[in-house]
Amino acid sequence: MSEKEITAKVEKLTAVKGMNDVLPPDSAGVEWLENKVRSLMARYAYRNIRTPIVERTPLFIRGLGEVTDIVEKEMYSFDDRLNGDPLTLRPEATAGVVRAVIEHAMLYDGGKRLYYIGPMFRHERPQRGRYRQFDQIGAEALGYSGPEVDAELILLAVALWKELGLTDVRLELNSLGQPQERALHRQALIAHFEQHAEVLDEDAKRRLYSNPLRILDTKNPAMQAVVSAAPRPLDYLGEASLAHFNTLKSILDANKVSYLVNPRLVRGMDYYNLTVFEFTTDRLGSQGTVCAGGRYDYLVEQLGGKPAPAVGWALGVDRVLELVKEQGLGAVGPTLDAYAIVPDSTALPLVLKTLQTLREAGIHVQMHTSSGAGMGSMKSQFKRADSSGAHYALIFGADEIAQNLVTVKSLRDGSGAQITQPLDAPADWATTLQLRT
Ligand code: ATP
Ligand code: MG
Repeated sequence: MSEKEITAKVEKLTAVKGMNDVLPPDSAGVEWLENKVRSLMARYAYRNIRTPIVERTPLFIRGLGEVTDIVEKEMYSFDDRLNGDPLTLRPEATAGVVRAVIEHAMLYDGGKRLYYIGPMFRHERPQRGRYRQFDQIGAEALGYSGPEVDAELILLAVALWKELGLTDVRLELNSLGQPQERALHRQALIAHFEQHAEVLDEDAKRRLYSNPLRILDTKNPAMQAVVSAAPRPLDYLGEASLAHFNTLKSILDANKVSYLVNPRLVRGMDYYNLTVFEFTTDRLGSQGTVCAGGRYDYLVEQLGGKPAPAVGWALGVDRVLELVKEQGLGAVGPTLDAYAIVPDSTALPLVLKTLQTLREAGIHVQMHTSSGAGMGSMKSQFKRADSSGAHYALIFGADEIAQNLVTVKSLRDGSGAQITQPLDAPADWATTLQLRT
């Protein structure tokens, strides 16, 4: 390659690996999901919170725990060029939400139910269902300690699957207990793994004393036997923790939500206690977890707030939409009611004025535009109108305009029927164009 060619190659500006463009018509799927979520959150009294995409790095180190996949190897961190502050693109949103809740004393008058939608960033190996920038939708209830709130959040997720038409989503539940119980379990866990040190892989050895719970989550087949025989958090629950778990289960039972208690279920972040859960599917290969969450009663305090219990979940938008597609469901993109055919550009001021009124009345209408000089032949304009999917063509011909009329021609019912409408009163006939479902 010549130097010039090399420069040209380097200068080809492409998206960052693992960070994807979402183009139409796929973007309609994201909007469809977001609209369903917003409407559902409103029905459960969860309010939208929007926190910055960049936070101070120590927030995540303190919040998620030093010995976690995210903090150890997945964060996009950098120093602010102007003052050297260590900053990080948020890898998840719970820490930021808690930071905001503390910073604005949001719990002073009682608990808060919040939800967010937005991009997260993790330096992972890109593959199906795993990206470096990906959207999450999350719900968090802060200031409430009862199992009925864990249940409410799970029921909210279940309602979302129903709303989206998804049937192949399984719920797995576990309880990790409270810190004293976790400490006892941790001791037993370390003792167990010490006895089987010869089968531990590098990751497990490194985590043995810093985060042994995470070893339960290993995907290494060589360690499965030793992990299956390991002490389970459930066996270390005291009376109160058991009661919390049992009440949650009885609410789910009463709502006919099926679940599997998975005693090996742990989560990637350190902040969880008591309830943890995951919604998984077999349809997405190894990236089968679509939504995950649990209780984090000590995080608010850990990040400097007045102690307050909390519980929440986050779902991966990409994985949920992939599942929607996989099940042959999904989004109907925005449809067009009408396409404006403009034989002569002198009509444009009038056309734009008319379309403005139609759009005010809620009509979806696209104006013909040409890439070259002039408006293009009637034939080519009709071809565009057809492929636009619009139900009607509005023809702004010179003869019609001279009589203060516009022709409305049906494109979809095969009849080709056409009528004329008065040009000076589009608001009066706008709704006759509305065939959208
Ligand atoms: P995994 O075990 O798959 O790495 P995780 O425990 O890191 O998941 P969470 O941090 O709990 O995931 O995030 C909640 C949800 O966000 C996941 O269940 C998944 O649907 C989605 N998610 C997580 N990481 C990614 C990613 N890199 N790309 C796309 N979606 C992701
Ligand atoms: Mg991960």
